[in-house]
Amino acid sequence: MLVLRFLRLFALIGASIALCGAIVPAQAQPSAGRALTTCVLRDSGEMNPAELIRHPERFDCKTPQYKLGAGDFWAITGPLDAVSTIEKPLRINFASLWQRQLSAQLLYADGSIHTYRTDARGITPLIQLGALAALPAPPSDAKLVRVLWHIEGAANVRGILLGAALSDAPRNDATNLAMAVLYAAFGGMCLALIVYNFALWCAMRYRFQLHYCVLLAVLIGYALSSSGAMAWLYPDIVNNDRLRFNYLFLGLAGGATALFTLSFFEMKIRSRRLDLYTRVIATTVPVSGLIVFLFGAINLRLADMIYTLAILGLISIVVPTLWQAWKQRSHFLWLFSIAWSAPIALALMRILANLHVLPWSFWLDNSTVISMMFEALVSALAVAYRIKFLREERDEAITREVLARRLADTDPLTGLLNRRAFLAQALGRPGEQQLLIADIDHFKRVNETLGHDGGDEVLRLFARTLRTAAPADALVARIGGEEFALLANAAVPIELDPLLNKLRQTRMPFDLKVTASIGACTGPLADDRDWKALYRAADIALFEAKSAGRDRARARREAA
Ligand code: GH3
Ligand code: MG
Ligand code: MG
Repeated sequence: MLVLRFLRLFALIGASIALCGAIVPAQAQPSAGRALTTCVLRDSGEMNPAELIRHPERFDCKTPQYKLGAGDFWAITGPLDAVSTIEKPLRINFASLWQRQLSAQLLYADGSIHTYRTDARGITPLIQLGALAALPAPPSDAKLVRVLWHIEGAANVRGILLGAALSDAPRNDATNLAMAVLYAAFGGMCLALIVYNFALWCAMRYRFQLHYCVLLAVLIGYALSSSGAMAWLYPDIVNNDRLRFNYLFLGLAGGATALFTLSFFEMKIRSRRLDLYTRVIATTVPVSGLIVFLFGAINLRLADMIYTLAILGLISIVVPTLWQAWKQRSHFLWLFSIAWSAPIALALMRILANLHVLPWSFWLDNSTVISMMFEALVSALAVAYRIKFLREERDEAITREVLARRLADTDPLTGLLNRRAFLAQALGRPGEQQLLIADIDHFKRVNETLGHDGGDEVLRLFARTLRTAAPADALVARIGGEEFALLANAAVPIELDPLLNKLRQTRMPFDLKVTASIGACTGPLADDRDWKALYRAADIALFEAKSAGRDRARARREAA
């Protein structure tokens, strides 16, 4: 039991970390390929690239790049030893980071230098699927010796030039294909889940379904911008703008996640304070994404800080929500936690990478999509599971209502229809109807002999005999203290003497002899007027039976 509690607590913490995993922007995505060491140097102006590339010892290889602040920089690789051929042209891959413009010098062993310069779009033309940049090395007989970059306007939030790796065109093509498969699968799955959940929402109108749809839609936008597919679809986009979209979509995803978290759990686990706080965060996170989107170009470091704080806020709602769900034994906590377990593990790794404990990895950043795919699928299960409970709640409510209605229609002592329900069902019955009013003879004496409880028992036994003696489609009701009504189709009338006989033969407590008198009448029963006439006639017939000595029946042919 204790182990189970610990496991649950673990899942709880995990799920909360998961949320931030989805949110850390995939800004830097170093590629697969042979990793290259890169050293950096702040640009003090008037530096000659041809001079710099031959003096790598002037570069700083030790200080973590992010500590150097924003600005213009030079970056250089360690010594290279590879030949770029026409069949297998080399590519120097590096992460897509916030920078205004970039140029590169490729130094070959024969002393020649090839220069590459980006235009106003930044590195957009170099972006591959998986959002890494690939710098082409022109084929040459001479070996490629070194690469020098000049980076203008680096925000340097995570680094200046990260994840440099030596690859080649066929290898990059294979990576692009793998990424295309991954992102297409993610996009297709999100689309299918949106259609499915939106259709469900149209039918059932539960808030969380709509929040889930919004989350999925925003994740498609995130996949589009973070994969680099956006750069392929809109080649004119500035790469920094693509990164701004990345923040915006993740901010929106954070908001949708907060709302989904709020609406997904049962009402019982929600507290007003947590609700309010969650709503505030659900607004703050998208707004912080919008701040980066709008003002990132002015000061990305500050905007990124605001964004990170908002994400911390998002994490802070998950912990109390899951804690509450755990304490209140929510049915949905476990699916919710499992759904977020993959993003949790990943988020943890990405946080470690952000703290420079783990090195940057191309696959780590792209696995966000895989973990979100897993999350979205398990959330689909969670939504279905949630709906199962809602259906059960609905069925229970229907059963309760049916029971309540039945209770309102029956006489509690005998289980027969009460007067109101009898009338409701009797009026409007088609064709001639036969009405019988049966009244127990000298019931006061029965009460005196057996006591009130004994009298009740007599009423119950009497009612049972009436019900079993009457045809199935006849209405049998208790309309007064010891007065009963039977309504049958006049085409198949109830025979009066055999019924009296059955009543006489009913075994009563202490073998007490109990008889009844019956008044009967036949006529139409279309409305209230018919009922009054029919009832009066039957009542007169009953009075005649009583007057004639009781324990007998009298019938009137037609209602007057
Ligand atoms: P008659 O043969 O003329 O019908 O005589 P009666 O005594 O049956 O008629 P009366 O209408 O004078 O008395 C009916 C009695 O039925 C009076 C009342 O105390 C009793 N009674 C009414 N409702 C109940 C009940 O729910 N349980 C019991 N035990 N007695 C009831
Ligand atoms: Mg009576
Ligand atoms: Mg009576």
